[in-house]
Amino acid sequence: MAGITIEELSTVYPNGVRAVDALDLEISDGELFALLGPSGCGKTTLLRTIAGLEAASDGAVAIGERDVTRLQPGDRRIAMVFQDYALFPHMTVAENIAYPLRVRGAAKSVQHETAVRTADGLSLGALLDRRPGQLSGGQQQRAALARAVAASAEVLLLDEPLSNLDARLRLEARTFLKKLQRELELTTVFVTHDQAEALALADRIAVMDAGKIRQLGTPREVFQRP
Ligand code: ADP
Ligand code: ADP
Repeated sequence: MAGITIEELSTVYPNGVRAVDALDLEISDGELFALLGPSGCGKTTLLRTIAGLEAASDGAVAIGERDVTRLQPGDRRIAMVFQDYALFPHMTVAENIAYPLRVRGAAKSVQHETAVRTADGLSLGALLDRRPGQLSGGQQQRAALARAVAASAEVLLLDEPLSNLDARLRLEARTFLKKLQRELELTTVFVTHDQAEALALADRIAVMDAGKIRQLGTPREVFQRP
C-alpha cells in the first residue's frame, strides 16, 4: 500500500526558477488528491518530480516506505497521464494498453489478457483494434487511463487529463474517473486549474502558489470560509 510523503522538496530548473519550494505534503494511501492553483504555480513540476521526470534539487519523495528520489522513473511504480493523452498513434488501443507490460518483458499472452480485461472494465472492449486517430476525445482519455491502470502502478498521476474534453464529455469523464479510482483504490494526484473539478472529484485539495502550498484540506474546508 502506498501513500506519498513529500519532505522539504525543492525543484529548481537550470535557469534558476524555483518551481517547487521546500514543500511538505502527505497524501494518504488510496486518496484522490487535487493540486489546484494558477498557471505557473508549480503543479506540473511537482507532479513531474514525484514521477521522477524532473530531478529533485533538495528534499525527498517517498512512495509507501520507499524513498524514490534516487530511483529511476521506471522503478517507481508510478503511472502518469498527460493532458494530451500521449497515446502512440501507430499502435492499436490494445497495443497501447499493453505497452507498459511489453516494456517489462511480459509474455504476449499476459499482455493480451491484461489489455482485454482492462479495456472491458473501461468500456473499450469493442475498440481494441482501433488506432487513437479513430477514437473520440473521451475514448482516447479512457484508453490513456487504461494504459496507466494496466501498468499496475501504485500511484496514478494525472496532469489536467480532462482539460481537452468538451464540457459534456468532461462531466462524464469526471464521474468515470471517480468510480474507477474508488474501485482501484489507487493513490491518485490530480492537477487542475479548475476549481469546480477539484471540488467535484477530490478527497482533499492543496492550493499552490509560487511553489508552495497555501491551503490544504477537504473541498469543504478549502472552499467554505467560516
Ligand atoms: P503549473 O503546472 O502550475 O502551470 P509549472 O510547474 O509548469 O506550473 O511551472 C512552474 C514554474 O516553473 C513557472 O515559473 C514555469 O515558467 C517554470 N518552468 C516550468 N517548466 C520549466 C522548464 N522546463 N524550465 C524552466 N522553467 C520552467
Ligand atoms: P502547463 O501550464 O500545462 O504546466 P506550460 O504551458 O507552462 O505547461 O509549459 C509547457 C512546456 O514548457 C513544459 O514542458 C514546461 O516544462 C516548459 N516550460 C514552461 N515554462 C518554461 C520556462 N520558463 N522555461 C523553459 N521551459 C518552460
